[in-house]
Amino acid sequence: MSEIILIGLGASGLACAMELQQHGIAFTAFEKEPVPGGLTRSERVDGFTFDYGPHIILDTPKLFDRLSLDLEDCACQSTIFLNTAKILSIPSPIQHHLHLLPLAQRIRIFSDILRRNANQPSLKPNNFHEHILAQSGKTLFGLFFEGYESKRLRFPLTGIDASMPNRIQPPALAHLFGVGAMTAQSACGGHDARFKYPRAGGIDNLPNAMMATLPNGQIHFQHVLTEIDLQKKQVTFANRRQVFFGHLVLSLPLPEIILLLKNVPKAITEAAEQLVYSSLYILNLGIDEPLSPPWAIGRTPRQDTDFYRVTIPTHYSKACAPSGSDSLTVEVAHHEQRYPLSEQEARQRIYAGLKQLDILTSPDHIAVEWLHNVRYGHIIYNHKTRAALELIFSYLNENGVYGCGKYGEWRDMLMSHAMQSGINTAQQIISATAAKK
Ligand SMILES: Cc1cc2nc3c(=O)[nH]c(=O)nc-3n(C[C@H](O)[C@H](O)[C@H](O)COP(=O)(O)OP(=O)(O)OC[C@H]3O[C@@H](n4cnc5c(N)ncnc54)[C@H](O)[C@@H]3O)c2cc1C
Repeated sequence: MSEIILIGLGASGLACAMELQQHGIAFTAFEKEPVPGGLTRSERVDGFTFDYGPHIILDTPKLFDRLSLDLEDCACQSTIFLNTAKILSIPSPIQHHLHLLPLAQRIRIFSDILRRNANQPSLKPNNFHEHILAQSGKTLFGLFFEGYESKRLRFPLTGIDASMPNRIQPPALAHLFGVGAMTAQSACGGHDARFKYPRAGGIDNLPNAMMATLPNGQIHFQHVLTEIDLQKKQVTFANRRQVFFGHLVLSLPLPEIILLLKNVPKAITEAAEQLVYSSLYILNLGIDEPLSPPWAIGRTPRQDTDFYRVTIPTHYSKACAPSGSDSLTVEVAHHEQRYPLSEQEARQRIYAGLKQLDILTSPDHIAVEWLHNVRYGHIIYNHKTRAALELIFSYLNENGVYGCGKYGEWRDMLMSHAMQSGINTAQQIISATAAKK
C-alpha cells in the first residue's frame, strides 16, 4: 500500500489513525502542536484545568470501548437568559419550560402554536432565519433563538442556508400549562442535561486515551505543515522535512488547506474564499470562591451581553478546580470583517456582561485568567457553500487528498462525529486501495 500520511491529530485524526491501526495498515502522522487533541486539549494553570472550549461528551460511539478512559456520568442544569427588558432566566430548553414565562408571553406562544398548526404543511423555508422562525414561532424566536444564533454566528440569519443543522424542537401546547414539563430530561435541561466527562478533569483525557492506543514511532509532534505539492505528491513542514504521500488525510481547516496547495487552480482558491465561519474568543477564569448560579451552562440572546454562552465546568466536574473554587468559561463570537473585536474589547465586554447577569459581580476573586482565540469556531453554510465544497473535494479527492473532521470536511460536528469522520476516511482509503489491487 502506498504511504498514508495523516496531518492533524485532533479527535478526527486520532480516530482515523486508530482505525488504520486496527486494520494493520501502516501510516505516519504529523501534528503541529506538542500534544494531540486539537480543540479537545486542556490547559492546567495553578490547580485549575481549563478545556480549550467547554467540551462535554454527549455520546460514546463504539470506538470508546477500546479506550482506557474513566468517564463520570454528569447531570446539570442549563439556563437561558431571555431577551426581555428585565433580566429573566428560565431553565433550558425553553420549549419545555413555557409555563414559567409571564402570562402575556404564554398567550402569544399559544397563538403561535395555533397558527403553526393551522398552516401545516408549511412552505419550505428559504433560509435559516425562516427555518428557525417556522420551528419556534415568532415569540420564542424573539425571546431566544434570533439573538442567540446571531451572536453565535455573527452572520445575518437570512443569509444562511435553511439546512444549517440545529436542534430546535417546536413548542407544544402541553408545555404552556406545565404538562410533561418535569420529565427527568427536561427538568435538568434538554440535550446537554446528561452527558459524560473525564473523572480526572480535563477533556484532554479523551485524546490522551486515544493516543495511548497508537504506536509512538509513527507519530510526530511539532510538525507544522507549510506546503502541499499535488504534482510531486509531497508535503513540506516548517522544519523543512519533506514526505511523499499516496493518500493524504488532512484535518486542518479547509481554507488553510487550500492556502497550502502549490499551483492551485484559480477556481479552487475562489471556492475556498466562499467558506464562511465565525471565530471565538474563549475566556477561562479560575475563581477562588464558589459561584452562586446553580446551573452549569447558560445561554444568552441578550444584546447587553456580547457573549452567547457561559459555562461553569466545576458544576459538572469538581476535579477542574481546587477545592472551594469554581471555574467559568465564556464564549464570544467575532469575525475580522463582519464583527471585529480585539482581545481587550472582548475581555471588557465579557466582564461587563458577567456583572450585568449577576454571574460575577466583582473581579476580586479571579485567581487565574486565560483568554485565547479559536479562529475557526462555528462553520456557516450560506447558499454558495455546497457548490464550493463539491468543487474543492472533487479536486482534492482525485489527487489522493481527504478532508477529515469538523474543519477538514467543513461541516458542524460534535467530537463523536469528528471521530466517525476519521473512521470513514480510513475506510475510504482502505477500499480505494483494495479496488486498485
Ligand atoms: C467552542 C467549542 C465547543 C465545543 N464543544 C463541544 C462539546 O461540548 N461536545 C462535543 O462533542 N463537541 C464539541 N465541539 C466540537 C468538537 O470540538 C469538534 O467536533 C472536534 O474536536 C473536531 O476535531 P477535529 O479533529 O475535526 O479538529 P481539530 O480538533 O481542530 O484538529 C485539527 C488538528 O490539526 C492540527 N493542525 C492545524 N494546522 C496544522 C498544520 N499546519 N500542520 C499540522 N497540524 C495542524 C491542529 O493543531 C489540530 O490538532 C466544540 C467545538 C468548539 C469550537
